[in-house]
Amino acid sequence: MEIKEYLEKERENFKAALRRLVKIPSVSADAEGKYPFGKNCGDALDEFLKICEENGFSTRNYDYYAGSADMYGEGEPCLGILAHLDVVPVTEKDWTFPPYSVTEQDGFWYGRGTTDDKGPLLSAFFAMKAVRECGYTLKQNVRLIAGCSEETGSEKDIEAYCKMAKMPPMVFTPDADFPIITTEKGMMRFTFGGAFSCSKIISIKGGTVVNAVPSEVTAVLEGEISVKGQGITSKYENGKTEILCKGISAHASMPQQGENAFTKLFSALLETTLPDIDREMLTALLKLFPHGETDAGSLGLACKDASGETTCVFSIIDYENKTLTCKADMRYPVSLTKAGVISAFAAAAEKAGLRLISSVGNEPHTVDTDGEFVKTLLEVYGEVTGLQPYCKAIGGGTYVHGIEGGVAFGPEFDGADNHIHGADERAKITDLLTAAEVYAKAIIRLCGGERN
Ligand SMILES: [Zn+2]
Repeated sequence: MEIKEYLEKERENFKAALRRLVKIPSVSADAEGKYPFGKNCGDALDEFLKICEENGFSTRNYDYYAGSADMYGEGEPCLGILAHLDVVPVTEKDWTFPPYSVTEQDGFWYGRGTTDDKGPLLSAFFAMKAVRECGYTLKQNVRLIAGCSEETGSEKDIEAYCKMAKMPPMVFTPDADFPIITTEKGMMRFTFGGAFSCSKIISIKGGTVVNAVPSEVTAVLEGEISVKGQGITSKYENGKTEILCKGISAHASMPQQGENAFTKLFSALLETTLPDIDREMLTALLKLFPHGETDAGSLGLACKDASGETTCVFSIIDYENKTLTCKADMRYPVSLTKAGVISAFAAAAEKAGLRLISSVGNEPHTVDTDGEFVKTLLEVYGEVTGLQPYCKAIGGGTYVHGIEGGVAFGPEFDGADNHIHGADERAKITDLLTAAEVYAKAIIRLCGGERN
């Protein structure tokens, strides 16, 4: 039987396996006994390993940080496929379908994890199964690795795996987009601030997450202050003015699509009759982040190359009791280095009268697009889908960001909208099966498959 035909026949088995995984609300949480990411993630891993064992794969549990299934019981794998079993939480009232079960409608499977990433994990699993059932023998082994804490961004699952086992020399993750992502910008998160003795400004608070353009900020000032501007409202009560300023939220990798509520408010406040001592703090912040600027030009870090351009978002602010603490998210292209970005940020902050408190982040990730591995994946993708293969560069980091030579390979096709991380997450059934076919052929090609 041909791979494609086999996978079509497995459709109901695929759905049944997906149902077994989606049923478990595996949101990565605090450690619970032997489970480093909580019992639900542990249960999801147990269920996944059970499915693999039922199908004759050889499994291993890495202390519930991750698990793996090898096609054969022996032989170090040359190819690793890295997916994850944890999911983001749901806001149940926003869902039309029950989030923790699989509902089929109009060619889609709905449920948390159907696209991110339990469905694609099973695409890879059925790809391995198809290779075997269609009569291929591989010269080298293939390993499916399932991590239990991708969504937290901590990489603790991968770290633990790497302590207990070898990462195969070729790795792809079905946790992003087709055709293939070979370049991921570097990312930094900065915490900065300072001491400012304002006379009128009592507090400024805004921003909920570090990786988004803030859509709201609230400032409380002594006395009656009249501030004007679109999206700005204020009320005067008990001798204080409370000002609410609204902007437009956007993901930190695409800040051009948003409008920063903080810098909008600061610009408007500078138009008022605030005393100089209050202006000092606002001016310092606007010096680093002028309203409307998203390319870190004022930090001296504007840069554009084949991997894209620098983006920077001032995303969290907390000023109270004369102490200012802020956070910013930066994505930077491969031409810049982590050390260079940190020192430039620190220097610009100091010049503005602020201080860099701490920074965490990583270097850009890039893989040779002319190498055999990437070339083979592109070829297989083109052959199976009939679509034009090409390499992508993105601002976000994928699951393989810290893995040398790793690429993201599917499963979402250009233009797909599967409501990842949102309500009514879904996966197009034919897309999951096509991804499985692409992965099966990639396994055969990369691991030296021959038909018996
Ligand atoms: Zn994911």
